[in-house]
Amino acid sequence: MDWRRKGQRVALVPTMGALHDGHLSLVRQAKQHADHVIVSIFVNPTQFGPGEDFEQYPRSLHSDAELCRQEKVSLVFAPDFSEMYGAKKHDRHQYITFRIKKMTEYLCGPFRPGHFEGVLQVVNKLFNIVKPDVAVFGQKDIQQWYLIRKMIEELDHPIEMLMGPTRREPDGLARSSRNVYLSDPERKAAPMLFQTLQRVRNGLEKKGTREAIPVDGAIISEEVKRLSENGLKVEYFSIVSTPDLQPAAAIEPGQTYVIAVAVRFGKSRLIDNVIISHKELPES
Ligand code: AMP
Repeated sequence: MDWRRKGQRVALVPTMGALHDGHLSLVRQAKQHADHVIVSIFVNPTQFGPGEDFEQYPRSLHSDAELCRQEKVSLVFAPDFSEMYGAKKHDRHQYITFRIKKMTEYLCGPFRPGHFEGVLQVVNKLFNIVKPDVAVFGQKDIQQWYLIRKMIEELDHPIEMLMGPTRREPDGLARSSRNVYLSDPERKAAPMLFQTLQRVRNGLEKKGTREAIPVDGAIISEEVKRLSENGLKVEYFSIVSTPDLQPAAAIEPGQTYVIAVAVRFGKSRLIDNVIISHKELPES
């Protein structure tokens, strides 16, 4: 491959496969910033906790490769375990691990111990193997997005990081490879998640003011109750500041926040989020 010698830019879109429109939108975005797009497909065991869905995770390499071909992806990198970790298959022992401070104290961090350490481990390896100029990750996994951007800064990867907006089904449910776990009634109820996030964001935005907008805990509790009444067991419903991902008591002018939720629903775990920025009133 003499892409680099020719001065061509390379973009990487890391995935775990079972590709859907969300992944493909990242590929299309990547293409606008590079001459070549590489898609990696690897269900990384080190980011799955005990009892999580590593074994059941949907795998469809052949149709994934076909979708990549249709999107004119230059290369699909689909290593097996030993290629990535050079050890016995499913030997999850890690000799060197990341230790993340602060940014995993909230949101998914406490509910998936070790998950983000595994994500940074594999993404760091992918960056070193592929050496992309650009990497595209989705807003859907927003805690992951901010952590990877932090890792890029702190470990001096010369990589431009882009965020792809969350692609949704027509009824608002965020597309996810894990949506196949939902039963029919669960699938019908699942769009509640995005509706709830939008309602909370609209409620905050409506209070157009130049001042900080306090976050009303009672409104959040009300929404959590409504979700539980519909069988969605809330792990967290949080408003956090960016990029540090710490709980926010108010929406401050000029700052960007994330309203994020995770629920257990039947056999599935669903996450979603929306971004909120303080909108000032126009000058009068
Ligand atoms: P995954 O295969 O689930 O590890 O996801 C691979 C990449 O696709 C990550 O950067 C995700 O954030 C992104 N992604 C997953 N779902 C969506 C979606 N619905 N819209 C946009 N990007 C997504």
